[in-house]
Amino acid sequence: MSVHVIGAGLAGLAAACLLTESGRHVIVSESAPAAGGRARSYFDKILDCRVDNGNHLLLSGNLAALNYLNRLGARRALTGPASAVFPFYDFTTSRHWTLRLNDGRFPWWVLRRRHRVPGTRALDYLALNRLRRARPHDILGTILPRNNPLTRNFLEPLAISALNTMPDEAACGPLQAVLEETMALGGAASLPRYARIGLSETFIDPAVDWLRTHGATLHFGRRVTVLDANMPTILAVPPWVAAELVPGLVVPDQFESICNLHFKASIPPGEAGFWGFTGGLSEWAFARPELLSVTISAANRYAALDNAEIAARVWAELGQAFTLPAAIPAHRVLWERRATILGTPEQQTRRPRAITANPNLVLAGDWTDTGLPATIEGAIRSGNEAATILMKLPE
Ligand SMILES: Cc1cc2nc3c(=O)[nH]c(=O)nc-3n(C[C@H](O)[C@H](O)[C@H](O)COP(=O)(O)OP(=O)(O)OC[C@H]3O[C@@H](n4cnc5c(N)ncnc54)[C@H](O)[C@@H]3O)c2cc1C
Repeated sequence: MSVHVIGAGLAGLAAACLLTESGRHVIVSESAPAAGGRARSYFDKILDCRVDNGNHLLLSGNLAALNYLNRLGARRALTGPASAVFPFYDFTTSRHWTLRLNDGRFPWWVLRRRHRVPGTRALDYLALNRLRRARPHDILGTILPRNNPLTRNFLEPLAISALNTMPDEAACGPLQAVLEETMALGGAASLPRYARIGLSETFIDPAVDWLRTHGATLHFGRRVTVLDANMPTILAVPPWVAAELVPGLVVPDQFESICNLHFKASIPPGEAGFWGFTGGLSEWAFARPELLSVTISAANRYAALDNAEIAARVWAELGQAFTLPAAIPAHRVLWERRATILGTPEQQTRRPRAITANPNLVLAGDWTDTGLPATIEGAIRSGNEAATILMKLPE
């Protein structure tokens, strides 16, 4: 019997690939005209080039994501620096600085002043142990040291981008999981990685091609409105859609937005190809050949600002950090209003397991109970888990 995968975001695509590889015939139904969900590229008329719906950063410890790309033969579509370098610019001090992790497990970088966060001492990094020992539902903001340069310049920006939630309401658990699989293993597991060309070219188009080549059936523009309880199905849709399709299913119901700004401008890529920022509105900037793309995470706090004001402020900040013309170039401000679930302890308790009361129906998606924040790694891992569960059903 064919297996149905509903939703062709990363969770659905990962599940479809694993099932197809195991010899099952897979039918993918996606409501949008193309695959990708919240990780997609498209042609932007104002900018006259392809853009991503938002900058996406992975780390080399995101093994499920890397294995997914390996299966598709698309690993080289990711790029990034050869060592774990994170260049930053602080708008309040007008200073560039770079965090440099050493490859191995023992964090020698903490002992080297020029490798660690400015203004910190080696002993400050014991705060990371406190974070590792915190209970998963503890609020991050109560665990991070206050009025401390390590918190302000590194732990907070890291937490906001990884959790897409402000530390004063975020649960510690998902950040602990990220740190255990990356920084705690050393620089080799913390290499920053991002799409060389675009998200669709890296994560989505190779999967669609691979699935077609291996005999799967894909339908785009097909919105599923009812489930057949007797069909083996992986439901890989956003939580609010899953709740409509599965009566009684408890799902996360609070979300955080991400704002991305693409400017038709270029800067030299520097050592890493991206920068982190502190003390301003902008949080991360990626230098593309034709585009300068800025991310602002946990952006609900800026919902009252209009796009023109955000663009002007971000452009002024970029002008402080880099040599750029004063006049704002062609640009696009993109809001993903429900970019991810809100990472509060209460929302964590609403993340369902993959299995449901019906053995034929399995859930996938970055919002399910993966233990990780809502990320590419979490989405792919959830798809893998859902496929593994369904593969145990008799054919
Ligand atoms: C702006 C932005 C920046 C991000 N940055 C990062 C980052 O730096 N690093 C990182 O790891 N993660 C990042 N993420 C998160 C990452 O994009 C998501 O975790 C991941 O894409 C989620 O994949 P998914 O398959 O779980 O869900 P989705 O991508 O939401 O896929 C669900 C799919 O189901 C389809 N669907 C909905 N209803 C139906 C229906 N009734 N029938 C059929 N199909 C349906 C949708 O169209 C969609 O394609 C970011 C997200 C955003 C929005």
